[in-house]
Amino acid sequence: MSEGSPHIQVLKDAGYRLTQARLTVLGILEAERGHITSAEVLERVAALKPAIGRASVFRTLDLLTQLGIIRPTYNGSSLTPTYVLMRDGHHHHAICTGCQRFFEFDDCGLEALSRSLEQTLNLQISGHLLEFYGICAACRPPAAGASA
Ligand SMILES: [Zn+2]
Ligand SMILES: [Zn+2]
Ligand SMILES: [Zn+2]
Repeated sequence: MSEGSPHIQVLKDAGYRLTQARLTVLGILEAERGHITSAEVLERVAALKPAIGRASVFRTLDLLTQLGIIRPTYNGSSLTPTYVLMRDGHHHHAICTGCQRFFEFDDCGLEALSRSLEQTLNLQISGHLLEFYGICAACRPPAAGASA
C-alpha cells in the first residue's frame, strides 16, 4: 500500500487513527482488484498480522463501509456480502444471473448524470455503485446452428 493512498487520507481526514488493523485491512482491499468476502479478509489478515483479532477486522470493515471507502455487495440469494473498494468513488459490474459471476468494468460514462443529480437532488455526490444483470455466454443456450 502506497503512502499516498487516498483512502488513508479519508481515514485521517475523518479523524481516525491509523491502527495496525485499519492499515492492514485497507492494504488487503487495495491489493484486491475485485470482490472479497470478510472470510477472505480474515484469512489474509491472519497470514499477514496474526495479532489482529477477528473483532477488529469486522469493526474495520464496518468503518470503511461507513466512510464510503468500500461497499458491501450482495449476489444472488447469499446473505454474505462481498466487499469492493470504491476506486475514485466508482465501482461498476455486471452480474450473470445464471452463474452469479461478476464482470467488472472501469468506464461508466456517468459523470454527466452524476453532476445533474447533484443539481436536481441537491446532493453532494461522492461515488456510485453500478450493477447490471444479464446472462453470460457460458449460461446462454447455444444459438441454433452454432458449431461450438
Ligand atoms: Zn464488482
Ligand atoms: Zn453465467
Ligand atoms: Zn463510474
